[in-house]
Amino acid sequence: MKKIILMGLICFLLLPTVTLSKQRYSPETMESDLLKIQKKYHLEVETIGRTEKGKPIKAVKLGKGKKSILMVGAHHGREWLSSLILMAMLKDYASAYQSGQPIGEFPSNLLDEVSIWFIPMLNSDGVRIQQGDFSDLSIKERAAVWKMNDFSTDWSRWKANAKGIDLNRQYPSGWDDLVNEAKKPMYQFYKGKRPLMAAEVKALSTFTRKVDPLIAVSYHTSGREIFWHYHNKHKNMARDYGIAKKVAEITEYELAIPDKEAIGSGFTDWFITEFGRPALTIELSYLVEETSPPLSVFPEEWDRNRQVGIMLVKEANQLNNYGAVIHNKTN
Ligand SMILES: [Zn+2]
Repeated sequence: MKKIILMGLICFLLLPTVTLSKQRYSPETMESDLLKIQKKYHLEVETIGRTEKGKPIKAVKLGKGKKSILMVGAHHGREWLSSLILMAMLKDYASAYQSGQPIGEFPSNLLDEVSIWFIPMLNSDGVRIQQGDFSDLSIKERAAVWKMNDFSTDWSRWKANAKGIDLNRQYPSGWDDLVNEAKKPMYQFYKGKRPLMAAEVKALSTFTRKVDPLIAVSYHTSGREIFWHYHNKHKNMARDYGIAKKVAEITEYELAIPDKEAIGSGFTDWFITEFGRPALTIELSYLVEETSPPLSVFPEEWDRNRQVGIMLVKEANQLNNYGAVIHNKTN
């Protein structure tokens, strides 16, 4: 057994890169798409921090509104379909906004009031590993991630960042109570030694405080389900449920039933707790097991989600008008 592992390790460490599938949306493709869109529509792009492997984490702003909402993709490596959806949204909205065309049933000039900050790919290191691209990793790091993957070459299940930390188990709200399913760095479920220790999460939480969005969305895969609830204050329940219900109506996704025992530590749990404002975790695609949904599901998911961003822009604008947003920073 030991011999087989050793042989495997040698092969894996010496191979330049596993043959990469074309059926993926890579960080490089996203980067070049982003550059094209940025140039064409003169958009503000900000590097909000760097991944553990030193790659820039980009945020793009669309709209003239001082107020904003925030939409984040790919907390998890195997969930890069969420990056593709957000990039499609950015491109579609930017074009409509420039030409004054509506986006579905919503006027695009709503973006004059409330902008959208897109962070299409938070965990590009994890996406690379999931896609079998180890070109950024030293031999030592390759050995480490192979161990974190239980010495399996099934990289498609990779969910964590490059340090084996599950980025959506890293936020302070509920972190202490979260039972660590993985005791050490792992391809999934390891919550880390303390909250906000992963570079990606640190960058996102700092940026979120800075832009102070009215609504936050975290796109994940899979299961076609919307989570909107995490110990929401009683006075916010109807408001937050109403918004989640509208998203459920246009996407035809299931609305998760509020769970009093909900374990937290996710980005939206933190946002709901910290800001007292609505936040949604949206799970794209029909349910797939521990892997990325196939690219073939993209057209349907895009169709279901195309109007989500602009609809939330409208909701955010109304929230502010009737003063229902209560600033609730506790630290
Ligand atoms: Zn996820």
